[in-house]
Amino acid sequence: MTTLFAKIVRGEIPSDTVYQDEQVTAFRDINPAAPTHILIVPNRVIPTVNDLTTDDEQLVGHMVLVAKLLAEQEEIAEDGFRLIINCNKNGGQVVYHLHLHLLGGRPLGPMVVRPKA
Ligand code: AMP
Repeated sequence: MTTLFAKIVRGEIPSDTVYQDEQVTAFRDINPAAPTHILIVPNRVIPTVNDLTTDDEQLVGHMVLVAKLLAEQEEIAEDGFRLIINCNKNGGQVVYHLHLHLLGGRPLGPMVVRPKA
């Protein structure tokens, strides 16, 4: 299976890649929602959080630690940032290749828009 992000991982589609190792690739979101908006993706295609298994525990931990490293590099760590993984339709997932959003550089406001009462 291939995905848009798998093509970015392999360098077949241009991207602003900021980090890559044998497990993950991180690149700037093409439509940033904050001054820093980076996507951390596994190099191997895993469609959604629902597809994770216990074998992926180390990989998921690594994704979070890479996000921490990039937050430090972007100088947003101290002020704070947000990590998001969307899953499926109700989660707002658009690209079906697991990815962790790293967002920061401004106050991000409420986590979720609440429906009007
Ligand atoms: P999600 O809604 O969690 O699936 O997020 C998908 C994200 O991928 C969105 O924030 C898009 O702006 C971003 N995106 C889509 N295509 C590209 C691309 N070619 N390069 C970088 N980011 C992209």
